[in-house]
Amino acid sequence: MSFFKNHQNSANSWLNFFKEFSSVHGNTSINTFKEKLLKFGVFFESFIQGIEGDYAGIERNFNKSSEYIDGLKKELKTVKQEMAKVKESKTTAENNLKFKCEELERIKNIKSYAQVASSLNQSRDVPQPNFTCIIESVDPSIQDSKQALSYLNSKLDNKKISENGIKINRQIPIHGKKVLIKCPTSNDCSKIEKLVNDMNGGVKARVLAKKKPRLLLLGIERDIPDDGFKDALLAQNVHLKCLMNGSNELIDLVMSKNDRVGSKFAIFSVSPNIYRLCLDMKFLFIGHKACVVKKGDSVIQCFKCLRFGHTNRVCANDPVCKYCHHHHISNECPNASREIMSSCSNCKSKNLSRRGGMRPFPVDHSVFSKDCPQYLLAEKRLNESIDYGC
Ligand SMILES: [Zn+2]
Ligand SMILES: [Zn+2]
Ligand SMILES: [Zn+2]
Repeated sequence: MSFFKNHQNSANSWLNFFKEFSSVHGNTSINTFKEKLLKFGVFFESFIQGIEGDYAGIERNFNKSSEYIDGLKKELKTVKQEMAKVKESKTTAENNLKFKCEELERIKNIKSYAQVASSLNQSRDVPQPNFTCIIESVDPSIQDSKQALSYLNSKLDNKKISENGIKINRQIPIHGKKVLIKCPTSNDCSKIEKLVNDMNGGVKARVLAKKKPRLLLLGIERDIPDDGFKDALLAQNVHLKCLMNGSNELIDLVMSKNDRVGSKFAIFSVSPNIYRLCLDMKFLFIGHKACVVKKGDSVIQCFKCLRFGHTNRVCANDPVCKYCHHHHISNECPNASREIMSSCSNCKSKNLSRRGGMRPFPVDHSVFSKDCPQYLLAEKRLNESIDYGC
């Protein structure tokens, strides 16, 4: 509480006294008020001093407040600077984001352009052959596969083809007086099979069934018996169990074998849905661990003739040396060296049988390269022979 506030009432009463004092009768002697006026003098002196004290206090407070305000001003300046920095980094981030978005959009456009280009390519060529009907000669007068093909086409003529709306990608004469008919759908193959067999002529047709895809499960504990695999998988992997409740789903153990690290691996034949689910899951729980799942189908390459699709155990071809490409077993090669291995015997021999005008295959790669055109072709054929359900 200030001095002024404490003495405001006294000051007001003195003010009232002077108002009355000015209105007293003119004959009243000044002596009547002498004592009162002396008291006023004392009061007024201390009142002024008190107010000076108040003023000094107010001035001190004002100075303090000014310092405080200066402090606040400084803080405000710092905050403003920080805000400016934040705003700047926000702008930078926004610009970066905008740039990234543009980049993504550009990549998306390139991708869609590539997709369009590839779809144009596909539409220019015949659709990819995916389903096969095999035609076998049963008439002894048919001498070879070319005769089998012309016999077939004389019976199954263009009129029959168009009447039944059959789509054929390619007809390929193969050894054993047979012809492969590649169609874009299994329905086309079935129609051909029915038409040809209903003719009861010199050829018979059979739709080549696609194989079920296979899965490879690695690192299984050895004490899990083969006949317990499926139950253990279904009990420990709920997603798999749910899917297996549907009809037509299948998990069949093809084989299991001990690996070199104390566990074993297994190959399963599965339905397409199970195949996709397991590959998506990447791991399957079995026994005390999660085992890695991988694709179980791969291109087989013969170590004797170096061609694809069979193993050396069933190979009827002459051996081909991986080093010098002569007809001897690679281990017996007198010229064995890595440099020689950098050319491909499969592509070389394919080039010999390529007709004029066809671009030769490159040969400057190992016969075991995964980029070899013959390997890629073998991989494509393998994929075509498997029912992935799409
Ligand atoms: Zn072979
Ligand atoms: Zn050799
Ligand atoms: Zn090659």
